[in-house]
Amino acid sequence: MNDSTPIRAQSRVTLLPSSFALLPDSLYERVAPTPVSQPGLIRVNEALAAELQLPLAALDVEALASLFSGNTLPSGSVPIAMSYAGHQFGGFAPQLGDGRAILLGEAQGSDGTRYDIQLKGSGRTRFSRRGDGRAALGPVLREYLVSEAMHSLGIPTTRALAAVTTGEFVQREGPLPGAILTRVATSHVRVGTFEMAAAQGDIKVMGALVDHVIERMYPEARGAANPVLALLRLVVERQASLVAQWMHVGFIHGVMNTDNMAVSGQTIDFGPCAFMDAYDPATVFSAIDQNGRYAFANQPPIAQWNLARFAETLLPLLDPIPERAVEMAEGMLSHFATRFRGHWLQGLRTKLGLTQEQEGDLALGEGFLTLLHHQHVDFTLAFRRLCDSADEPAAKPVRELFQDPQAFDAWSVDWRRRLEAEGVPAGERVQAMRRANPLYIPRNHLVEQVIAAAIGEGDFAPFAELVEVLSRPHQEQPGRARYALPPQPDQQVFRTYCGT
Ligand code: AMP
Ligand code: MG
Repeated sequence: MNDSTPIRAQSRVTLLPSSFALLPDSLYERVAPTPVSQPGLIRVNEALAAELQLPLAALDVEALASLFSGNTLPSGSVPIAMSYAGHQFGGFAPQLGDGRAILLGEAQGSDGTRYDIQLKGSGRTRFSRRGDGRAALGPVLREYLVSEAMHSLGIPTTRALAAVTTGEFVQREGPLPGAILTRVATSHVRVGTFEMAAAQGDIKVMGALVDHVIERMYPEARGAANPVLALLRLVVERQASLVAQWMHVGFIHGVMNTDNMAVSGQTIDFGPCAFMDAYDPATVFSAIDQNGRYAFANQPPIAQWNLARFAETLLPLLDPIPERAVEMAEGMLSHFATRFRGHWLQGLRTKLGLTQEQEGDLALGEGFLTLLHHQHVDFTLAFRRLCDSADEPAAKPVRELFQDPQAFDAWSVDWRRRLEAEGVPAGERVQAMRRANPLYIPRNHLVEQVIAAAIGEGDFAPFAELVEVLSRPHQEQPGRARYALPPQPDQQVFRTYCGT
């Protein structure tokens, strides 16, 4: 343990020790959070705490702030920082790791699943390199908002259990208020964790990691003839499904390095991520993604590229004969494109209100996307208004989004013909479409507004309201029309930052 592991008060909240800490200790460091001077509670996610069976109601605000700042440790906690490597923008970084995050332990959810509880912004670790181990308030609020929004959209994701201010400043481009996020994941093991284990060149370490991941996340692989191959198949499948879901809400992760890809298939690491307003497949927000490697439309091939790095780490365990191992891995990876395409097309059908599979579905869906692209139409609003147009032949709400509405009219003739052939009652179709097409997403300008209010005026009410709006993304909420609107020209956000 390092110097920052004083004897300190333990919370009345109990966690299970991290199962990751049972792995060879070359994969983590035992290190406690560094206390902060003046923890202040921003928000606790009570619904999530209940799902995790954490008895937070027994704690007052001060005790909660102390717990979620790392000043008080949960009883049973064996805090660790995980070691990982990763390919960042295509280049291999042999030593990354939790440089500003500490895994406190696990909670057993009411669904029987175990969840990692991690503090992010909790002080330096062996993996901090030149960083201060801390997080600024803006990125913490951003991750809270976006990860919870993703969850409410039904997309696999890490979640936010709490956010606190630290009462300290962090030095970035200037001094910024510090904060800590408590993140919940089915596991924080990343593709980069496998890259770290493989690079250590000890087959026992890799074997232990594979067993851990199968035990924790993929028990269905256990009984397979080749459990490692089954693991690869399942990880490929979950990523294909995940990225397809991102594409259907206009989500751009922004920094899909292999250390930011969770093996569980949950979305992780909400740094420069952003939702697209006007539809353009080439959209990039991240200031550090200068070549557009992680542009919206590149996300599927990049996921496959990352999975290839994952598969490489498994080769020695897939088969003792290297050629056969490579063949097996390539076979599995080649499924990614087909599986992604299948999920994506099915999602597109649902967004368009189609319940049956037909030959021309892809062309119909792509036709609509092309219209949005060429006419710079807002992606989320267009699909949402399409719902309202499904039982209204004039299609006024969606039609008026197009500069050249006749192009839309031409497309909609085919769409309507296709809908009519299905014979689903119009009301039912509209409801199903609304469930697939959110009205509220964490638009960048809204996220920036609530962060500015929090930093500038210490006003967290706009943040709280946005969290609330985004918790019911498909349901129209009275008095909250502005949250559904695209940015005005002067509100548009073009660049997002990593938040390191
Ligand atoms: P990220 O951009 O959040 O994916 O982080 C990439 C790597 O940099 C990870 O190893 C992080 O732990 C590390 N890192 C990012 N910010 C900090 C910081 N403020 N202090 C220490 N390490 C950091
Ligand atoms: Mg990261």
